[in-house]
Formats: sequence, structure tokens, C-alpha cells
Amino acid sequence: MPQVTRRDFLKISAAGSGAAGLTVLGFDAAHAAQVKQNFRIGGATESHSVCPYCAVGCALVAYTRDNPNGTRTLLQIEGNPDSPVNEGRLCPKGATAMQIATSARRVESPMYRAPGSDRWQQMSWDDMLNKLAQRVKDARDATFVAQDATGNIVNRTEGIAFAGGAAFSSEEGYFATKVMRGLGLVHLEQQARV
Ligand code: SF4
Repeated sequence: MPQVTRRDFLKISAAGSGAAGLTVLGFDAAHAAQVKQNFRIGGATESHSVCPYCAVGCALVAYTRDNPNGTRTLLQIEGNPDSPVNEGRLCPKGATAMQIATSARRVESPMYRAPGSDRWQQMSWDDMLNKLAQRVKDARDATFVAQDATGNIVNRTEGIAFAGGAAFSSEEGYFATKVMRGLGLVHLEQQARV
């Protein structure tokens, strides 16, 4: 690349001729085309999605490439510049969204640590959901209050609390509240990430 002094650079900029300027700087159209061809996401399939982490709902673009052996490689996830919510930006957490799919440390099944145990063990979703359902029933049966101290009928469950996640949609929040109130819970909280 030719040497360009600061003065040369200002002259090039002032000329306002982008193409001419780029040529002087050592770039030309052919070179630019070559660079474009070599982009990591060049020719990739673009899929739109939403960040799963919180209710801000920042829009994402995921770039994937189909491989000859039938597999698909995730190349990049970034903020969607067309979204009125985030205009291409992501917070530090959302910017790591790709790691949800690619991290070697990703946990792919429920993990259970028995009382008193010093180790985690893998568990199937069915077994874990059965265990959770049984624990909820046991705790509800053990702590259910039908009448308070003054004889009022209250039908409440004081031994369980529920915390909603920040990624809940309005509908999920409504559904969770209905289910928990149906069980008699009075301690409901929501981690609203705003
Ligand atoms: S604020 Fe961050 S975590 Fe929340 S949706 Fe946007 S990128 Fe995701």
C-alpha cells in the first residue's frame, strides 16, 4: 500500500471522491469485492429471532450456513438494525446469545443434586418434571391453610413461593399467575428486567 501522509489523507477526504480516494489509499473495487466474498457471513442464511434473556425483546439476526454433509453451522448472532426496539444494539448479555448454542459448557439436560449429595447427576425432562410436581404437591399438602386463626376461609398455600422470569411475555405472566393462584399461592414475585 502506498504511504499516505496526514496531509494527503485530508486532501483525499476534501476531494469528496470516495472511489478515487479509496484507490489512492490502496483499495479498489476488485479488492472490495474480494473482501466482501471473504466475509465470514458472506452468502449465509439470515434468520430473525428475539433475545431470550429479558422482556425488552431485542431483535436478533442469526447467520447460518448449510454444510454439504447436511449439518448447519451457526456463524454469528447480532442485533437487528431494523428493529425499532434495539436498532441493532444488544446489551452485554444479549451480545453473548451465540454462546447459548455454541458454548462447550452448555448444560443440555436437567441436573439434579440429591439432598446431602456433593454431586450433580443428569436427569431426563420427564423424571425432573415428575419430581417437581411431586415436590409441589408435598409442600402444598403440608402447608395448606383452609381457615385462618379467626375462622375466615382462606384456602392458601404458604409453603411455596413463585418467581417469574424476566423473559415472560404478558401471556406467560398471566398464565403463571392463574396456575399459582389456583394452587393457593400468595407469595408471587416477578423479576421485571426493565
Ligand atoms: S436488553 Fe439485553 S437481555 Fe434484554 S432483550 Fe435486549 S439484549 Fe437481550
